Amino acid sequence: MGLREKLALLIELQKMESAAGRITARKKDLPVQLGELETKFMGFSAVVETQREQLEDLRKRRKEKDNQLRLGQETLKRTRERLLEVKTNKEYQSILKEIETLETKNSHMEDEIISLLEELDVFEKGVKTKEADLDVQRRRYEEDKAKMEEELNSIAKELDLCARKGGEIREKIPADMLRKYEQIKSATRGVAVVSVWKEVCGGCHMSIPPQLYNELQKSQVLITCPNCSRIIYWENRNG
Ligand SMILES: [Zn+2]
Repeated sequence: MGLREKLALLIELQKMESAAGRITARKKDLPVQLGELETKFMGFSAVVETQREQLEDLRKRRKEKDNQLRLGQETLKRTRERLLEVKTNKEYQSILKEIETLETKNSHMEDEIISLLEELDVFEKGVKTKEADLDVQRRRYEEDKAKMEEELNSIAKELDLCARKGGEIREKIPADMLRKYEQIKSATRGVAVVSVWKEVCGGCHMSIPPQLYNELQKSQVLITCPNCSRIIYWENRNG
């Protein structure tokens, strides 16, 4: 196997490893995203739930007021009937006064009920809108969640595949070359093999000496960049 073929294997291995790196990052990121989605949805859900409870309270208050008004009207009716049985003028005047007080009280209660009904109307519409929103958000949340869970499943398979392919490539690469590759990879914390075109290193973007560039084009010995120490190869971009 010539140097070109060995370099090609290294490049393939590097591609496989960087793909695995991207997939691993995604694997870590997905559960975080999923958690954020859940928190957001739960938060909105709780807001709607609180408004539902407030609406129930308003409805209860309305029922109570209705009952109070009915009692007030019954009392008023009974008091008016008492007028028919009075014997003295004084008593008559006193009941009239009582009736007036009851009428005022009832009328206040009616006003309160009217404004309560208006409030209830606005509130009911608000809750209805929020519930429709919640339905949309729930659907979207469940869809996104399902997609992410599906992706997490397929990621596990992709990682397995990368590891297997990477292992197969490694077996074909000579041990000393592989060792050098690993050393450079851990030193640069990234790419170990880079292309050079027009005397410029694709890793550090510095120029390499013309003589070295000539040697590189011949592809007979493994050459590293004098500046960044990465393994370099000549890439003919003229196709
Ligand atoms: Zn370099």
